[in-house]
Amino acid sequence: MSSGISEPERVATVTSAPPDTKRSAYTGRLAVVMFGSPGSGKGTQSKFLVDWLRIPQISTGDMLREHIRRGTEVGKAIEARMRAGSLVSDELVNQLVYERIHQSDCDRGFILDGYPRTPAQAQEMMRLLGSVGAREVVIHLVVDYNIIIARMTGRRVCPVCGTLYNAISRPPRVEGVCDLDGEVLGIREDDREDVVRERLTQYEASTRPLIEFFRKSSERLFEVDASQDRPETVFGKIQDALASLLDRDPVQLSGSAMAGMVTDGARAR
Ligand code: AMP
Repeated sequence: MSSGISEPERVATVTSAPPDTKRSAYTGRLAVVMFGSPGSGKGTQSKFLVDWLRIPQISTGDMLREHIRRGTEVGKAIEARMRAGSLVSDELVNQLVYERIHQSDCDRGFILDGYPRTPAQAQEMMRLLGSVGAREVVIHLVVDYNIIIARMTGRRVCPVCGTLYNAISRPPRVEGVCDLDGEVLGIREDDREDVVRERLTQYEASTRPLIEFFRKSSERLFEVDASQDRPETVFGKIQDALASLLDRDPVQLSGSAMAGMVTDGARAR
């Protein structure tokens, strides 16, 4: 197994560790927090951001699914909860994120997709970001729940290459078949309608209240209307928000990403 997540003492060490004082000063590292309900487009927008900013996406959902796919101890422990659309434990996701952001490709920044989802995770995130000298920008993708249900239940995935399709916004060329390798598309367990409804209920109860937390604890919270079907249009709004912020509060990004911001800012629309 790649991490010591299943070792309880390791979790305890991480959650109680004092901030790393050597790195506690702001280093200009950017942490983009993609916030919004399941199906609001966090994953899609995160991928656009990866290309644009050249910093990695950290998707807790993907990391957890990978554990299930590989049949690790962690995977076995969480499978039933994930199938039911329930959240997995704060300790586990905090640990996964802790380990991931300490990898060297996160040195200039990273995009958090699907984390934090509970008040305990949000507090741990702020502590973690402080300890690695990262500054958060929270992008709240706002979408009506009826649109979400239609979107998520129309989602299909290629079981081989992982490409995501959507009956509304990104249909495959031939219905039910992957454009890239001709495989028959499947539906992710957690995109079934009953599971989607459960995930929205969870979001409403545990995650949406974090908006209040961010309003109080972060100066960099942007609300973006993400109900548009065209992901590129939504991305244009995110680019505008980030460009205006980075203008007044520069962070350390690669030259190419900064150049991209200046020249490509309006291209996505
Ligand atoms: P996602 O792909 O982000 O929608 O996540 C899929 C599932 O993974 C969720 O329904 C949860 O069961 C689990 N999950 C992902 N991220 C978290 C998190 N931050 N906290 C708890 N559970 C999570």
